[in-house]
Amino acid sequence: MMQEEYRANSKRYEEGISFKRCGNSGIVLPRLSLGMWHNFGSVDSLHNATKIARHAFDNGITHFDLANNYGPTFGSAEENLGRMIKRDFKPYRNELVISTKAGHLMWPGPYGDGGSRKYLISSLDDSLKRMSLDYVDIFYIHRLTPETPLEETMQALVDIVRQGKALYVGISKYPPAILDRAIAFLKDQNVPCLVSQDKYNMMVRDVENGVLDCCTKNGLGFVAFSPLAQGILTNKYINGIPKGSRASRPESFLKAEQVTPELIEKIIKLNNIANQRGQTLAQMAISWVVRNEQVTSAIIGASSTEQIDDNLAALDNLNFSSEELQLIDSITK
Ligand code: NDP
Repeated sequence: MMQEEYRANSKRYEEGISFKRCGNSGIVLPRLSLGMWHNFGSVDSLHNATKIARHAFDNGITHFDLANNYGPTFGSAEENLGRMIKRDFKPYRNELVISTKAGHLMWPGPYGDGGSRKYLISSLDDSLKRMSLDYVDIFYIHRLTPETPLEETMQALVDIVRQGKALYVGISKYPPAILDRAIAFLKDQNVPCLVSQDKYNMMVRDVENGVLDCCTKNGLGFVAFSPLAQGILTNKYINGIPKGSRASRPESFLKAEQVTPELIEKIIKLNNIANQRGQTLAQMAISWVVRNEQVTSAIIGASSTEQIDDNLAALDNLNFSSEELQLIDSITK
């Protein structure tokens, strides 16, 4: 089905989302960003993916987060974004912050995985072609690869910025001690690290043990991924696994076995707290993440425009009473 020509909502900044400065940098990010890990690949409907991306931007969500291997198939989320850039977003390129990453498996052989200079630089070249872009706004090392010297990975990031292929660099899933060393290296080279990206939600709080403080101490922003624990922290699995949901899809990273009765018991309790706050559980989960002053933006995934609307409304209530926080802790910690 052909989609009508796209003209962005002219009120996207007046009526849209709020922004927060990313650490001590000069750039701000929307409090919610859109991630393209699921729902944007070649197995998905491009029509639906386009609707979601347009709807996000129409609401002021200026940041789209990708990686070389998002799909499936690997690379296809970037290809689909490339199609959208050409058709819809070209006039708005300067209003968008587009990030991509390399670090996980992308192609066979020793040069398509890890943190080597060879892999990072060739992968970003491919990503730019797929997305039809001259540069990305943020390029991330996607994971810690202990077999690569840290200096090699960081020097590759520095050179990528010097070559004009990325404006900023970011680091994903580094433990605090190594993050600290990486930040120092980049600072020394005058390519300061913009942001750290890691998992953070009511159930997974590892970043509270050092990563968040490391970001704050060094003036980095922090971007939280999977604020909904891939959809678990919503009301959708309370009565079973609905058809089409992430846990029902064979290619997804959320497996039906992970949705256990013990987990659902907790979800039901959390859902009751959310309802008492006048929120959906998805909204409470997002509010909980974004309320943390150390969080610049939460990257949400979405399979429909309705989910984007539901999630945006989370930002209307970021206040939690200490009783609510304690209750949430007693269920999730
Ligand atoms: P979320 O935890 O936000 O999960 C998103 C999923 O939850 C959606 O696809 C949808 O699943 C469901 N959902 C969303 N909103 C609602 C709602 N209001 N009500 C009910 N269900 C809802 O995030 P993701 O796990 O998708 O991660 C977000 C992004 O973070 C990724 O796209 C990627 O950009 C980034 N990321 C980075 C990683 C890294 O290593 N750096 C790793 C993982 C993610 P459904 O299909 O079931 O409707």
